[in-house]
Parts: sequence; structure tokens; C-alpha cells
Amino acid sequence: MRKYVIMGVQGSGKGTQSELLCDDLDLVHISVGDIFRWHVQNHTKLGAQVRRTMNAGELVGDDLVESVVRERLDQHDWNFGFVIDGFPRNGRQAEFFMESYDIDGVIHLELPEDEVRRRVLSRRLCPNCGMDYNLIADRPKEDGRCDICGHQLITREDDTPEALDARLRDYNEKTRPVLELFRRKEFVHDIDARPPAEEVQAKIRAALNLPAYQAHA
Ligand code: AMP
Repeated sequence: MRKYVIMGVQGSGKGTQSELLCDDLDLVHISVGDIFRWHVQNHTKLGAQVRRTMNAGELVGDDLVESVVRERLDQHDWNFGFVIDGFPRNGRQAEFFMESYDIDGVIHLELPEDEVRRRVLSRRLCPNCGMDYNLIADRPKEDGRCDICGHQLITREDDTPEALDARLRDYNEKTRPVLELFRRKEFVHDIDARPPAEEVQAKIRAALNLPAYQAHA
């Protein structure tokens, strides 16, 4: 059983790296942001509760986040383990998490702030199948259309300069201290997130003593 936390500033590639890590190791990728986005897109009651907070780039309240995480992990569909992305984001969430689960490692993706802005503001998302694109490094084949399902791509509502500022502020004030807490427990592996995704993945696997990535046939 492998239980990893992936941390890093917005746009550092947490989603992409989690997917690569989970693919051949049969781990489950748990993205709290994706769970919330699903609720917003599907107009659920929870979606209505979090929509405005998310669009402003602010953090959703801890009680709500903890219940979503607990419910997701209680499904126990992660026989080989999980990679949790976007959680914990502050001291209280970290305490809640460490009380209930042991962690095998924390992957910290490092990216300078100017690169964060460049990446986040060029990010596009397929609202239909969830595929992520980037107009700099990972363009869709046809402008504005998803390669997988052909749906029109959108910009995440929280990928605006104002919302990004709010998210960066929260990251520096609330999430970085969590990283220091994990660092004191010697869980943290710092990984440079600037190289291409495959290279970053190889570094993560080397740091965690995992076998090299093998794409599913
Ligand atoms: P992400 O995709 O991880 O950037 O998350 C998108 C948004 O979901 C964040 O800007 C928050 O509004 C909310 N969110 C995701 N994870 C958390 C968390 N652990 N605590 C509070 N809010 C969260």
C-alpha cells in the first residue's frame, strides 16, 4: 500500500504527475479540486456551496473539505494506495489527515512564480472529459477543441490573474507551513517542476524508489 501526498503551487503539474504516477502502479488519484469542480459542473448542492469561493480563488471551509476527503477515502477503492492532490492545504487539514492516515511520502513540485503565472494563464480544460491543455506546452490539435472528445475547451473560472493572486497568497501563507511540518517528519521530496512532464515523473519515481513509468498498452 502506497499513500502519497502531492503538493505544489498552482500550475506546477500536480494533476499531470498524479495521473502518471497512478497509471501503471494502480494507485487512485484523489483530487479535491476535481471533486469540487465536478459538483459545480453538475449543479449539486455542494457545488452551489463552493462555487463562489472557488471562482474567487479562495479556500473552501475546512469542515466541508474534511467531509469530502473522508467520504472519498472511505470508499476504499484504493487497494494499492492513493495519491492525494490539493490536500492538505493548511495546518488544520494536515492534522486531520495525519490523525487518520499514515503517509509514505510527500512530493513537492517546485516552480518559480513567473513560470506559475505563465502556465496557469494559458491553461485550458475540457469540461466534458476533464482533459487538461496548455496553450504553451500542450496545445490541442485543433484550436479550442478537446483531442479526446471534441468538446469545446474552457478556461477554468479560477484561472484569472485576480484569482491566481488570491491562490498564491493562500499557498504562501497557509500551505507552505504544512510543507515545513511534513519536512520536519522527513517525508518531503523536492522536485523541480520546470522540465517536461516525463522527466519530472522520472525524478519523482527515483525519489520514491518506485519502478520507472510504463505506459499502459
Ligand atoms: P485545485 O484544483 O487544487 O487548485 O482546487 C481548486 C479550488 O478548490 C481551490 O482554489 C479551492 O477553492 C478548492 N479547494 C481544493 N482543495 C482544497 C482544500 N484542501 N482546502 C480548501 N479548498 C480547496
